[in-house]
Amino acid sequence: MGKYHPVDATIISELQQIVGAQAVWTDPGKMEPYSHDEVTGEKYIHYPEAVVLPETASQVAEILKLANRHLIPIVPRGAGTGYACAAVAYEGGIVLSTERMNRVIEIDEQNMVLVVEPGVRTVDVQKIATQQGYLYAGEPSSSDSSFIGGNVATNAGGLKAVKYGTTRQQVMGLEIVTPEGEILTLGGKLKKDSTGYGLIQLMVGSEGTLGVVTKVYLKMVPRLPHVIDLLAVFPNPESAINIVAKVMQSPISPVCVEFMDNKGIRCCEEFLHEKLPHSDQGYYIIISIDGANEDVLDDQCILVDELCTANGALEVLVADSAKIWKARKSFGEANRSRSLIFSAEDTVVPMSRIPDVVAKLSELGKKYEVSIHVAAHAADGNVHADILKEGMPLEVWNKTLPQLQDELYAFIYSVGGKLSGEHGIGYKRLALMKKYCNPVELKMMRAIKKALDPNDIMNPGKIFSLD
Ligand SMILES: Cc1cc2nc3c(=O)[nH]c(=O)nc-3n(C[C@H](O)[C@H](O)[C@H](O)COP(=O)(O)OP(=O)(O)OC[C@H]3O[C@@H](n4cnc5c(N)ncnc54)[C@H](O)[C@@H]3O)c2cc1C
Repeated sequence: MGKYHPVDATIISELQQIVGAQAVWTDPGKMEPYSHDEVTGEKYIHYPEAVVLPETASQVAEILKLANRHLIPIVPRGAGTGYACAAVAYEGGIVLSTERMNRVIEIDEQNMVLVVEPGVRTVDVQKIATQQGYLYAGEPSSSDSSFIGGNVATNAGGLKAVKYGTTRQQVMGLEIVTPEGEILTLGGKLKKDSTGYGLIQLMVGSEGTLGVVTKVYLKMVPRLPHVIDLLAVFPNPESAINIVAKVMQSPISPVCVEFMDNKGIRCCEEFLHEKLPHSDQGYYIIISIDGANEDVLDDQCILVDELCTANGALEVLVADSAKIWKARKSFGEANRSRSLIFSAEDTVVPMSRIPDVVAKLSELGKKYEVSIHVAAHAADGNVHADILKEGMPLEVWNKTLPQLQDELYAFIYSVGGKLSGEHGIGYKRLALMKKYCNPVELKMMRAIKKALDPNDIMNPGKIFSLD
């Protein structure tokens, strides 16, 4: 544990005074769900010394002051759906769960702003906006379970980012508790703000290393009444991927353009026990378009059909939306059911380089004799590659995976890409971050962290290490 103090009986007693005895857990059985996120494998499981469940920002502030006094790591946690081991207590200390901070504070229809606490589920934010006739456009595939605070802290992307942006573009303001325990509101309902540094955006994507988000001001946008999901099936990955730029360069402004490779499609089919179109040989491009006018939408569908057909599509059809999104959203779970241990890579490259990434992944799969299933938020340049261990002996896997990742990320950086498009760095990608992140960029990040969190109590050892 090194520089940190253990969470002893005195500290437990102080925590109980802050949040009440019922909201401080040290029982290993109760703490098990907090010992991991969605990253699989023994080495990614770490129990905290305690889990604490505050209900208010003031309680969070008191916990952080206590952590500074005694030098205790604090790991903020949402729903634990992360793919980066960012909400796991690797340095020991306290997991601060936001699950009891789940109130909707305000629905401001006039300013089209929704104010919620961090433990509100993403799907509930979406539902509230819909009830008001608006759209909340953040939509990670994990929406049913993830919390909005987790989405903010990871800058979650997902299925509407092409048109509406990632979580970063949905956040208008934040209430945070700083690492030293001050409560601060940044932004709120202002559409513009050039008053000094953009601290809201510094907090978004900071993975709990710069403070705890205790309130989120979210943008709602007008909900367009018509949405069509098109499924274009291609005979090979090249023709499928090549269509992405053509759609993006056309007058259509799609909500999303998703890619699924054939191995991924078959795996989802098997997992869901549901026949999917052309699963024998097809590669999918799913294009979602929304609009105010049905006729305009119909014209856009015709244009997509023409572009895809000219590019060799086997079929272009209006998708059974529920079925196709269920399949797309089950990608991770389906891969996990095939291979309990797998590595979810989250590469991001300029859109024009996606075909090269898909080809590289195919080459690496053959070279290292592993199955790699690919699904991409294609028009975002965000290629998810799930590398499956399956029957490979663990000691071989533990050697093979880092070699494969090294080769993959050397390639990704050579084409102008980065380590993570939306899942974040957490603990899982720490070594890769050290190797591939620009050293000056890393130096700036470290300087910010040291200035704001001088005792390094906020989620230490995530994104980068200060030691
Ligand atoms: C099936 C599946 C599909 C997914 N699809 C997507 C997708 O399409 N797009 C995408 O971007 N991600 C996706 N993810 C990854 C994951 O759901 C997102 O990263 C999500 O934003 C995490 O939210 P969470 O509430 O589970 O956060 P957690 O996993 O609990 O935490 C994630 C990070 O946020 C920090 N954190 C949480 N709450 C706070 C807070 N209040 N204040 C400060 N820091 C905090 C934690 O310390 C940690 O660093 C998917 C995951 C799964 C399992």
